[in-house]
Amino acid sequence: MIVILKHNPNREQLESLIAWLQEKGVIIHTSIGEANTILGLVGDTSQIDIDLIAALDIVQDVKRVQEPYKNANRKFHPEDTVIPVGNTQVGGGTLTIMAGPCSVESEEQVVAIAKAVKAAGATMLRGGAFKPRTSPYAFQGLGAKGLEYLKTARQETGLPIVTELMDITQLPLFTDVDIIQIGARNMQNFDLLKAVGHQDKPVMIKRGMSATYEEWLMSAEYVMASGNENVILCERGIRTFESFTRNTLDLAAISVLRTLTHLPIIVDPSHATGKYWLVEPLARAAVAGGADGLQIEVHNDPAHALCDGPQSLKPDVFAPLAEKLLKLHAFMRELDSE
Ligand code: PEP
Ligand code: MN
Repeated sequence: MIVILKHNPNREQLESLIAWLQEKGVIIHTSIGEANTILGLVGDTSQIDIDLIAALDIVQDVKRVQEPYKNANRKFHPEDTVIPVGNTQVGGGTLTIMAGPCSVESEEQVVAIAKAVKAAGATMLRGGAFKPRTSPYAFQGLGAKGLEYLKTARQETGLPIVTELMDITQLPLFTDVDIIQIGARNMQNFDLLKAVGHQDKPVMIKRGMSATYEEWLMSAEYVMASGNENVILCERGIRTFESFTRNTLDLAAISVLRTLTHLPIIVDPSHATGKYWLVEPLARAAVAGGADGLQIEVHNDPAHALCDGPQSLKPDVFAPLAEKLLKLHAFMRELDSE
């Protein structure tokens, strides 16, 4: 961090700023110029509030030269994080395919879809029991019962389950799920992030609809700073001026995050587009672009789905896609090893 002081700063205020910064454990290099004095702060500045310094009378400007997140930062953790989940893993060269319905609608539905996606090559089962819906009149999910049905589907197929936690009060029900999903709408629910940071199940954080990479990584930082290092990031499209698709899939996120963080990156082409026929091309693009996995909505009867039917694939469309994605992933790995 660099602090540029105003011309002729008040000595007392400067000394108190320096003492305060030293208390925070940073080393200060002072350069005295003709017009300005500059303080160069070296060390861990992630816990220093930049706005607090910028507001001081003697300060002209403050610039961060280091990211405000530490645990999620690749600079401090160069190796990719690999997260074991059930009998598989996320990251480390594996293509994770999370597939399943938007919402758990019944035991028969989720078990049938789980069997179909497993046979097609999916490595995890997704399904929402608690649903964040725009309308309070829309189907809100089966709640605790939905979680039980997901566990039955896991028992029948062996697939680990990924499901969304909407509120801290639901956390006791989530002790036996394999990955806790934090939805886009809750990406900056900081109390929820802290709560999942205090337990040890892996957490997948979906990108908020208007979140920058840094805001998204700061959400990961919340979970990690609370003690849980097993964080996965999921790009699910952001809001733009384009209204043809439900969201706009930001494929650059894969490469950008790869440089900024060591955490695994999943892409969700279903919520990104809102259209079933766009899922295949964007899923292919995500695998070719280096994603660690995909989250894809699959429903056995999309026309009658209680949520997100238009973006859901039928199992017989998902099966050849999963096969192609696994082949494409193997091909990309081969290319990369050449
Ligand atoms: C979901 O995965 O069911 C979901 C609601 O996704 P998002 O939070 O990305 O909208
Ligand atoms: Mn959905």
